[in-house]
Amino acid sequence: MNSCFTKFLLLIALAMLAGCNSRRAEENKDARIKVTTTVTMVADLVRSVGGERVLIETLMGPGVDPHLYKAAASDVTKLQRADVIFYSGLLLEGKMQDIFTDLARSGRRVFAVTDAIPKEKLSAPPEFAGHPDPHVWFDVTLWKLCLEAVVKGLAEADPEGREFYEARAAEKRARLDELHAWALQKSAELPADRRILVTSHDAYNYFGRAYGFQVIGLQGISTVSEAGLADVAKLSDFIKEKGIKAVFVESSVPHDTIERISRDTGAKIGGELFSDAMGTAGQMENGYDLGTYEGMIKHNLSTIVEALQ
Ligand SMILES: [Zn+2]
Repeated sequence: MNSCFTKFLLLIALAMLAGCNSRRAEENKDARIKVTTTVTMVADLVRSVGGERVLIETLMGPGVDPHLYKAAASDVTKLQRADVIFYSGLLLEGKMQDIFTDLARSGRRVFAVTDAIPKEKLSAPPEFAGHPDPHVWFDVTLWKLCLEAVVKGLAEADPEGREFYEARAAEKRARLDELHAWALQKSAELPADRRILVTSHDAYNYFGRAYGFQVIGLQGISTVSEAGLADVAKLSDFIKEKGIKAVFVESSVPHDTIERISRDTGAKIGGELFSDAMGTAGQMENGYDLGTYEGMIKHNLSTIVEALQ
């Protein structure tokens, strides 16, 4: 080979190596706390508290169903290199629980944000034999309590940031108080007898309890079990009997059964609700950013109230 060309190749190789090294040095220099989260709602909490002090990686993006989600090898790597791991808990991420337990046992900082909610505030439907309903984020007052777990976890990894985290959590609490007041007012626009919410899976029980809706989910609290034929027929009868005007599909659950019920009963599809995953960041609808927790709550409630009017 031409020696000039060989030198040229060598130079390129050296330049690439230098690039790699400087990139690695930059990553090491990044003083931000590395956080890995599961669902987008938890990422929203961490972002609100952590601000520019944290770098967040989220395993389950928009449209992903956490009940069914299994960790890929790349997810385990993301969990292992995190300074702190936050997940929602109460078996929402049912198929990942063993991984969290193992990581915690090996001394990693692993926090279920819902651990901050007092047990007596959780609802445990009888058909779930002792398991509490994990969908707590739909009662804004319960989700607000989870901020405490985020502050605790971040301050453990970054004690110097404690005051910063506490101040930001206090700001978020104030914003969530406003959101809760807005939600109470918005749901009151609908007469009590019209407040019946029919969706694919039982994600809205806390929502119903907080904002005065009767909630009927076709699949149980988890999407792991599928709706049986008898359930579909029973629900269709109920919709016709009550004269319910609209039923709702969910962004992270297949739409087919609810669409069939809509055809069978004449109730229209009232819109797509976000249940176990938020929308994409910056995805605007009616002025709400669906990639934020506040935007998701406002979108859901506005959609429900408008369709059932
Ligand atoms: Zn769910």
